[in-house]
Amino acid sequence: MTNPFDLSNRVAIVTGANTGIGQGIALALAEAGADIACVGRTPAEETVAQARAFGRRAEIVSADLSTIAPVGRIVDETVEKLGRLDILVNNAGIIRRADSLDFTEEDWDAVIDTNLKSLFFLAQAAARHMVAQGRGSIVNIASLLSFQGGIRVPSYTAAKSGVAGLTKLLANEWAAKGVNVNAIAPGYIATNNTAALQADETRNRQILERIPAGRWGEASDLGGAAVFLASDAARYVHGHILAVDGGWLAR
Ligand code: NDP
Repeated sequence: MTNPFDLSNRVAIVTGANTGIGQGIALALAEAGADIACVGRTPAEETVAQARAFGRRAEIVSADLSTIAPVGRIVDETVEKLGRLDILVNNAGIIRRADSLDFTEEDWDAVIDTNLKSLFFLAQAAARHMVAQGRGSIVNIASLLSFQGGIRVPSYTAAKSGVAGLTKLLANEWAAKGVNVNAIAPGYIATNNTAALQADETRNRQILERIPAGRWGEASDLGGAAVFLASDAARYVHGHILAVDGGWLAR
């Protein structure tokens, strides 16, 4: 019997693959059999080395996703270096924190451009390729703030709510063309992004008390969900936003 989670002979783009959640997902896809294009500003040398240690092909594709300028080149370079494109994980993202009364246009634009605009246009560039080959999977990284308001992160909440909406819209448009579009909503995951929260004793205690699983997530906790959504096991799953949050949203 074939393993529906097997990603052998598939090629995946993972944005922001040098660290944190993107690295965890890239390595899980590689372990499941996929070759990986690691896209980002900082070269993902460690991720590439580990993926190669699994016996996969892995390449660095340098790109700054604060603008949409590189999206076409990212797809072209991936196909050129790795021969095809089957999976896109739209993970790269930033956060800016300030009271909404003081929030600046610069902080608004920076987050919306990276987390939402580039996500859409990279999905578009990848989907043009996937539609032509009749198959592909796109996994967007959403957030608990795709469902909740949060506080002092207006552009991030707007972007991540937008990611949830776009995931459903793109699933509607592309499901019949063979492209699965879904999202993962990570809960509180220990990465550079959340280092300040972890270091704040009071906030850290409040967060831990609120998580049913009683611990922060690790980047590797996202791997299973990403492999599932990128694989044939999810071939009839479209427009779903899968929370991987230690039970946060269940509370
Ligand atoms: P990190 O800060 O550890 O990693 C962010 C990644 O995004 C890095 O690889 C970074 O690369 C990349 N990136 C940021 N800006 C750009 C850019 N302009 N161009 C290319 N790459 C860029 O964060 P996480 O791993 O925690 O976050 C990954 C994703 O998960 C984000 O979308 C985040 O919003 C989301 N998320 C995280 C949660 C958490 O608790 N950690 C919870 C919910 C969602 P570089 O180092 O080169 O800047």
